Amino acid sequence: MRVPIIAGNWKMNKTPAEARALAATMKDRLQVIAGVERVLCPPFVDLVPVSEVIAGTGIGLGAQNLYPENAGAYTGEVSPLMVKELCQYVILGHSERRSYFGESDCFVNRKVRAALAHGLTPIVCVGENLEQNERGETDGFVSGQVRAVLADLGADGVLKIVLAYEPIWAIGTGRAATAEGANRVIGGVVRATLAAMYGRGVAERVRIQYGGSMAAANARELLAQPDIDGGLIGGASLKADDFVAIVQTAADLRTDA
Ligand code: PEP
Repeated sequence: MRVPIIAGNWKMNKTPAEARALAATMKDRLQVIAGVERVLCPPFVDLVPVSEVIAGTGIGLGAQNLYPENAGAYTGEVSPLMVKELCQYVILGHSERRSYFGESDCFVNRKVRAALAHGLTPIVCVGENLEQNERGETDGFVSGQVRAVLADLGADGVLKIVLAYEPIWAIGTGRAATAEGANRVIGGVVRATLAAMYGRGVAERVRIQYGGSMAAANARELLAQPDIDGGLIGGASLKADDFVAIVQTAADLRTDA
């Protein structure tokens, strides 16, 4: 059975003091929820204060990006060596990075390799935009993204990653994909592509999250789907009660199963 993973992407929100306070509000309640990996992904400057708050709790810490070189003249960037001193996870290929910062599949693939080389768990995002969805291009586009970002990782590498299917039209819009629709793409496209690349046995072990307006109110329906192994949560991860409720829902569903 794949262990569910719920990760909160705080995006560019919370100063270090605010981040410390938000993590402190969630810490005790998240700590006692068993059977679910729960991960906080604050901005870079918040990683130290949040790491101090959650130390020893079993709550994971993730960065939202990295640059795929160990050190050097890359002004403004942060290396996997720096990230790994504080974090276990790193979000890579988020659609906001692709659209605002021009990140290509090839560059995301470099980042995934760099993260794996340093023992970080990459949470790798894929997903189609509204036009592609409306033109019926979702399956081909998402499958192509999976192939490109996971190229040449080998089965060992692929088994260490988490994928996140995030339809761009659902991110931050309050309009989540239907549970059945998300499950269809995750199982029938993302996992099927993984199976074609690395074999069914590997594909069945890789965790694939859904992301896009997941909230306390719709988490149960989404997380109950057989191919959805967790959530990448944006807006709702900034509200302690909502994020804790989503993690608790994942734990409850696991107990029911
Ligand atoms: C995200 O940005 O990864 C995301 C899923 O955002 P939201 O939950 O706000 O749609």
